[in-house]
Amino acid sequence: MATLTSTVTLDREINPWEAQNARFEFAARKLNLDEGLWKVLSSPSREVIVHFPVMMDNGKIDMFTGYRVQHSQARGPAKGGIRYSPDITLDEIRALASWMTWKCAVVNIPFGGAKGGVICDPSKMSRGELERMTRRYTSEIIDFIGPEKDVPAPDMNTNEQTMAWIMDTYSMHMRQTVTSVVTGKPINMGGSRGRTEATGRGVMVACNESLRYLNMQREGCRVIVQGFGNVGSNGARLLMENGYKIIGIAEKDGGLYNPNGIDIHQLTEFKYRNGTTLGFKGAEATPSDELITQECEILVPAAMENVITSRNAEQLRARIIVEGANGPTTAVADEILADKRIFVVPDILANSGGVTASYFEWVQDRQGYFWPESRVNEELETILRASFEDVLRYAESHNVNNRIAAYMLAIDRVAFTIRQRGIYA
Ligand code: NAD
Repeated sequence: MATLTSTVTLDREINPWEAQNARFEFAARKLNLDEGLWKVLSSPSREVIVHFPVMMDNGKIDMFTGYRVQHSQARGPAKGGIRYSPDITLDEIRALASWMTWKCAVVNIPFGGAKGGVICDPSKMSRGELERMTRRYTSEIIDFIGPEKDVPAPDMNTNEQTMAWIMDTYSMHMRQTVTSVVTGKPINMGGSRGRTEATGRGVMVACNESLRYLNMQREGCRVIVQGFGNVGSNGARLLMENGYKIIGIAEKDGGLYNPNGIDIHQLTEFKYRNGTTLGFKGAEATPSDELITQECEILVPAAMENVITSRNAEQLRARIIVEGANGPTTAVADEILADKRIFVVPDILANSGGVTASYFEWVQDRQGYFWPESRVNEELETILRASFEDVLRYAESHNVNNRIAAYMLAIDRVAFTIRQRGIYA
């Protein structure tokens, strides 16, 4: 059997599409997926590229490039975030779109996968420029999105305000308010309670289930979290509130370490007031890249892609890795982690709390009936625990690691549906 490293060369290691493909091919081969379905699932079904003008505050016109990639709609409308960043590539959006297909299938919710993005630097844009760019991008892709077609959500550098603008633009074109066209909206316009912290909550469920599976104690369980944004800060807070000891927070501009545990409530308050975690007195300043190789029971990468690579995987000293971020580990690093017998909860399972709560939001919008937060959290936990069990059972019965098991489970579910629907001639 070929190994992952034999299918990915080092210089391609950090290309997210190659990383996705390496895992897909490995899992598809293990599944004996038939050639035709292999072809269907290994490429996106639609890639939209738009170039559009925006009037900037200085009165000049700037051109922007945006993408929307739909990987699959076999199991339901496509679902996936929209990110704003200066270095977005089509390969990245492609990879993220297919990860969404696998993620939705792992948690068995009726969505396919999509992703979108606009190449821009939101830190250099005014609120008015961002609003005009968002509205124009929405109108450029309007034929391809909709509650039954493709439902966007927030991602890197987009938030509930962005979703409110998209919802409003779409609704203006449709001549009626259509709340279910996006998820991650403000609560007063069809957002779901519990959505904001759902990905962090899912990370906590994955930590709990890992400890249970490995027969480890929660008491004194040391956790290091990389990234203190939506996923990292909510995950760290929920973990602390549930008895874990957060000994490290690795942020973009520097890390924090305290072997006795960092008070996440105080740190959240500090970041809210200062806009950074730097200078927090409740922990020692430590370089972030040193932090992620510190000894701990659980490492939670919750910042960005490609942070665990062939360059640092050998140095990691965690027993468990729970991937809050999308694509934090390269395919080459997977093999090193497997040799070190590190238990990995892969991204498409570990961070699926967000899309699962998005599914609840879409359901509530379509019903016009909104759930209390306790129901969102309860149903979220039920789905995530069942999915964790499904993946672990698959890993044991097929003798593969958790990531390949998650891919196999997902590919199997999507392929089964395509087979049943048949190929439209
Ligand atoms: P965010 O922008 O709210 O937070 C990211 C944080 O990571 C920021 O605080 C940033 O400063 C920090 N960061 C950036 N580069 C870093 C680096 N090199 N080292 C350490 N810290 C760094 O984003 P988010 O919504 O929390 O998303 C984080 C990751 O989780 C992304 O990969 C995203 O795709 C994934 N994800 C998010 C959700 C969600 O619901 N928000 C759901 C699923 C997956």
